[in-house]
Amino acid sequence: MSLALRSRVDDGLSGRNQGEPEFLSAVAEAWENIQPVLDRHPEFLAANILQRMAEPERQIMFRVPWTDDSGAVRVNRGFRVEFNSALGPYKGGLRFHPSVNLSIIKALAFEQGLKNALTGLSLGGAKGGADFQPRGCSDGEVMRFCQSFMAELFRHIGPSTDVPAGDIGVGAREIGFLFGQYKRLVNRFEGSLTGKGLGWGGSQIRPQATGYGLVYFTAEALATRGLSFEGKVVALSGFGNVGFYALEKLNSLGASVVTIADEDGHIHDPDGIRGDKLRFVHDLWFKRRGSVREYAEEYRVLYEPGRPWAVPCDVALPTATQGEIDLADARNLVDAGCLCVAEGANLPCSSDAIRYLREHGVMFAPGKAANAGGVAVSGLEMAQNGSRCQWTREEVDRRLKETMSSIHKLSLEAAEAYGWPGDYAKGADIAAFLKLGNAMMDQGVV
Ligand code: GLU
Repeated sequence: MSLALRSRVDDGLSGRNQGEPEFLSAVAEAWENIQPVLDRHPEFLAANILQRMAEPERQIMFRVPWTDDSGAVRVNRGFRVEFNSALGPYKGGLRFHPSVNLSIIKALAFEQGLKNALTGLSLGGAKGGADFQPRGCSDGEVMRFCQSFMAELFRHIGPSTDVPAGDIGVGAREIGFLFGQYKRLVNRFEGSLTGKGLGWGGSQIRPQATGYGLVYFTAEALATRGLSFEGKVVALSGFGNVGFYALEKLNSLGASVVTIADEDGHIHDPDGIRGDKLRFVHDLWFKRRGSVREYAEEYRVLYEPGRPWAVPCDVALPTATQGEIDLADARNLVDAGCLCVAEGANLPCSSDAIRYLREHGVMFAPGKAANAGGVAVSGLEMAQNGSRCQWTREEVDRRLKETMSSIHKLSLEAAEAYGWPGDYAKGADIAAFLKLGNAMMDQGVV
């Protein structure tokens, strides 16, 4: 970002948010992308929209004490950052992972507000979680943790106030425990969480939504260059809630997924992860939370420590977590012949990686557009809860496809209108900023 622009939009941001590098970088990236909007619409600067949009409406931090199976008392830190409610009730996931801190949650909540704006649904932006590691805990420990977490969170959420969902470390099991405790505390059965079980208020396709949506979005992007997934080689990282369902959908479209990865390393299976191997990957994650090394042992393929981005591929889909593609990885991807990188995770690519990919003609789809399918179907779950009905799988999938297609179109049109044709990162930020900024302008100084 240029010095002049920095002083124009920073306005004390870094001073007020010291020690929060993830948050500052998420805001800086967005503000850089929306620069052409500010040139054309100085009214946003006059109304100080940038400073207001970068200040969370409310940040909640709380103690989460619980007892482990040995009887020892443990303490974690819980967070909920309610960032922006100009477009609807606060909405965004809960993340349970040891890396969780205020900076990461604020960065994700800020991004979520922009992402949710792109869905066209009435959803504000929020994120929350705790520095708790469910992996390695017994079901009883996870339940006691979730109950303690909700014993504080329940007073801040509600179907028209704030509706959390899952994220890393928070899946169907955790949502079940959280919902049970919420219902017990408020004595009401209501849609204050999404990602619920199908038998008790959940929506069809919600577990698959982020992965399927990522593939729908990327297919639209490839189509702009006359390409499809048929016969394409795809490198994938995380194979959990996002990655597994992307893998499933990619297979059905004729792509060959050749890598999956975890925190320690990745496998390379040049024959593609399909057929029985898909079931193996499903059980590896959803039943055992095992390591990808087991896949290499079972199918006698290459296992290497580190990330999968040096493997030859047409499309790369980072589906694990923030910061999984840096400049060196971007260089590897370009050298490996990659045409398109689409973010299934939130903030997986560093700013310099994104710049490098763009400069080398690689299509780049930012997470706030490409992975919006999850929260979009959460929005559909809220609509179903509100009218006490449940739509069919086909109906939800059709709406998900339509939403991804409309986000793709919105991003491309905004990029074109503001002088960056084909640039999804700028287009998505511009379209989201206009939607959110205009709503804030209409609602006055609040
Ligand atoms: N955690 C998901 C995301 O990053 C889903 C959030 C939600 O459904 O509220 O978008």
